[in-house]
Amino acid sequence: MRATVLTVSVLSASSFSLAPAQHRRPPLKASVLDEPAKSTPALDPDGGVAVTDEEVARKFVYDFGEGKTDGNGTQRALLGGKGANLAECSLIGLPVPPGFTISTEVCTYYYAHDGTYPLSLDVDVKASVARIEGAVGKRFGDASDPLLVSVRSGARDSMPGMMDTVLNLGLNDESVEGLAAKTGNERFALDCYRRFIAMYGDVVMGVQQRHENEHEPFDAVMDQLKAERHKREDLDLTPDDLRELITRFKALITERSGEEFPQDPYEQLWGAIGAVFRSWGNDRARIYRAKYHIPAEWGTAVNVQAMVFGNLGDTSATGVCFTRRPTDGENVMYGEYLVNAQGEDVVAGIRTPKAIDEMKTEMPDSYTELEHIRGVLERHFADVQDVEFTIQEKKLYLLQTRNAKRTGLAAIRTAYEMVKEGIIDDKTAVKRIPADSISSLLAPTFSADALERETPLATGLPAGPGAASGHITFTALGAEAIQREGRKAILCRIETTPEDLRGMIAAEGILTSRGGVSSHAALVARQMGKVCVCGADVTIDYSRGTLGIGTTVLREGDFVSIDGTTGHIYAGRVDAAPSEVNQVLNGKLDPDESYTYRIFQTVMGWADKYRKLAVRINADTPKQAATGLKLGAEGIGLARTEHMFFEGDRIHYMRKLILAAEDSERRRAANKLLPFQRDDFHEMFNAMDGLPITIRLLDPPLHEFLPHESSARLALADKISVPFEKITERVAALQEMNPMLGHRGCRLAISFPEIAEMQARAIFEAAAQVVAEGGQVALEIMVPFVGFKAELDNQVNTLHEVAREVMAYRKVSFEYKVGTMIELPRAALTADDIAHTAEFFSFGTNDLTQCTMGMSRDDSGAFLPTYTAKEIISQNPFASIDQVGVGQLVQIACDKGATVRPDIKLGVCGEHGGDPKSIEFFHRVGLNYVSCSAPRIPVARLAAAQAALADEERH
Ligand code: PEP
Ligand code: MG
Repeated sequence: MRATVLTVSVLSASSFSLAPAQHRRPPLKASVLDEPAKSTPALDPDGGVAVTDEEVARKFVYDFGEGKTDGNGTQRALLGGKGANLAECSLIGLPVPPGFTISTEVCTYYYAHDGTYPLSLDVDVKASVARIEGAVGKRFGDASDPLLVSVRSGARDSMPGMMDTVLNLGLNDESVEGLAAKTGNERFALDCYRRFIAMYGDVVMGVQQRHENEHEPFDAVMDQLKAERHKREDLDLTPDDLRELITRFKALITERSGEEFPQDPYEQLWGAIGAVFRSWGNDRARIYRAKYHIPAEWGTAVNVQAMVFGNLGDTSATGVCFTRRPTDGENVMYGEYLVNAQGEDVVAGIRTPKAIDEMKTEMPDSYTELEHIRGVLERHFADVQDVEFTIQEKKLYLLQTRNAKRTGLAAIRTAYEMVKEGIIDDKTAVKRIPADSISSLLAPTFSADALERETPLATGLPAGPGAASGHITFTALGAEAIQREGRKAILCRIETTPEDLRGMIAAEGILTSRGGVSSHAALVARQMGKVCVCGADVTIDYSRGTLGIGTTVLREGDFVSIDGTTGHIYAGRVDAAPSEVNQVLNGKLDPDESYTYRIFQTVMGWADKYRKLAVRINADTPKQAATGLKLGAEGIGLARTEHMFFEGDRIHYMRKLILAAEDSERRRAANKLLPFQRDDFHEMFNAMDGLPITIRLLDPPLHEFLPHESSARLALADKISVPFEKITERVAALQEMNPMLGHRGCRLAISFPEIAEMQARAIFEAAAQVVAEGGQVALEIMVPFVGFKAELDNQVNTLHEVAREVMAYRKVSFEYKVGTMIELPRAALTADDIAHTAEFFSFGTNDLTQCTMGMSRDDSGAFLPTYTAKEIISQNPFASIDQVGVGQLVQIACDKGATVRPDIKLGVCGEHGGDPKSIEFFHRVGLNYVSCSAPRIPVARLAAAQAALADEERH
């Protein structure tokens, strides 16, 4: 082994940065990143690139297929999902063309070393190419019978369509003639070559659309040629046409990039490998990673594999198939294929493929073999697979298999049915269902009533279930703009490309006029849980800004409604109805009539069996509490008492209380509120029937409650009989620069004790009444915005005093606990002191995040998207807890609280209580419960079970 002088550990993830390659696109050789691989630069004593012994010894290239497989399915981190699964399929004897995987460590290296590769890579790649040559009996670059390869990305988690692929690599002006002669199929050889040039030109040499509405440049050249030669389909192009196309493609590359299309196969290979690594840093991959929280340092692997050809004539085909239907999870083979085509044709939606069922009659032997492979794959991988296959002159090959992306509904159904079929156990099912996906069972559908009134004007492929109604937009930017205005958008595209991702995220639904159920639009929409209808019978005209559905022409901004379950498209707005599960929960559908409901209940039952965290609801009204109970809430974790005044006229009394200038005036206002509060609490106690209820004393940040509009002040003046001018004067006097840090929470109640007194009386009188009626109460009262023990003591004294009084005059007694919110860093840091008084802590992680990060929870939108896009933070800290910073305060508070009060009850009631990743953290910290809004309760139950099971695995 070579001894080297080292300055850094080359594969250290912490030094990972996407910076070097971000905006470095071709032209080729414009920078070091675009050059073919070189050996690592010589050592530089002043701190240049260094090479470790470890690197020299490390294996970077893993062979698979045809007799030699180095890796296996467990090595996703190293080989990426595609590489690991190809290795695994080879090991179990499935027909995989031979190839090799360049590991993700090389990607990390590439970014850390300014676009260069480890020293040994060159030799290793050549050795693996030689192995493929041996296996298929062709040589790379052979002029008469060339080995062609595909070069594909493969991240640890699949990122469909986000990174780059090059097919038919190895062809050049000479070998294309050899291929034509060898196969006796000139058209085929030329077709492969034109595809290769276009892909290479796009991916490696950067010949791409310059703006959103420009046609893809190679497609534009092809369309032009077709028009000139009066050809409709790609397959109508003759060898002569294809030769002309190849000439034009090469000219386009030279014109746009200033470089010639390379003829040397190894130069092509290194160009494609570098492009795949660079595509890990492209915009769409970064957006995707940000959305799915995929760490930048994972990197992608590169898979180089012998080409097999689905475009060799009518006994050849290419397709994709799912081992179960990914839209609803039904146990049927599902997919599509194209005869005489290459893989990208199916995914890109260039030709509309045939349903896999047609293969039964068209290619019966291949269909039977595929059915067999479906069973083998499911049993081996114990999960639904999404398979890419190619049939080359009747011989079937597997090009890729991965766990299938599926809708929430399908994820739940397949997990449920696989347990019933004995393929997996219930723990696996619980672990496998993305916790968030459960909420898609609660998504709306168009109401039956509305559908009776409406006639679908067109139909497309149902690609992402659910119902969506919104304003038509034809661009991603348009979708984002509509979303920013708080309205709903339906993104209408002829077909989508990864460039549309932003728009798809922003849109409520996606409608395309081209492409099948495995097209980009369909795959991505399904995964996002977006409603999607694709390949629809509609005419989209970008330049006119119109959507033609039959004879109806809709314009940008008009309403359109799409049903991603049936594929129906309606002009105008259609009312949505609740999901089946919701209908059962609301007594509108017999549970026995709903298979979906049975699945939902069973899966929730499994989750409940394994979880340790209790799940409560944040509910401010008896109705919300009742909904929470139906969804499995085990108590109320947060009743925001100020929110009890949002309904009807109550807000006026609340405002009167806040605006009161005198104590007596305030007391009168408080007394007016008391009966409302008491009645609500009474109803809530009854609804919860002895389950714990955590009631929080008033916390109205003034900017949320003061009447800012003069119309609101006029209405208030009228309602509470106070002159408009006086109200305006008081509003001005109460104005704060930083209301979120202002006179709110316990600060208000300490300044004006009559507020806490009124609330305490309402709560205790309601509890007393329930007890007197023979009911049960498990009452927890908490004080908001506490930073000092003395604040809590002040409030607790009032509470105990009023409790004693009420119990005396109502002649009943009951227990209650008093605790505090932990929302301020000071409270977390002095939690041991505060725990002398507090019997429980409830973490208000909304304010705790705001105050720890110094970021406004109301208007950090100006910079947070930029921060996530630039990967300064990996996700919005108000949605998923910042475990390192805010989480540390939670941990400190838990530990300190327990030193004083070992049995202290700990919960969370900020929005993070419904976020699966945060829930996993709260489980680890040792909280007793999470509390969240109603629709998140099933998500939280599942996430809590997943956290417990992950814990079990760790220990
Ligand atoms: C919190 O701050 O996390 C919390 C639950 O309180 P609110 O959102 O009402 O400020
Ligand atoms: Mg708060």
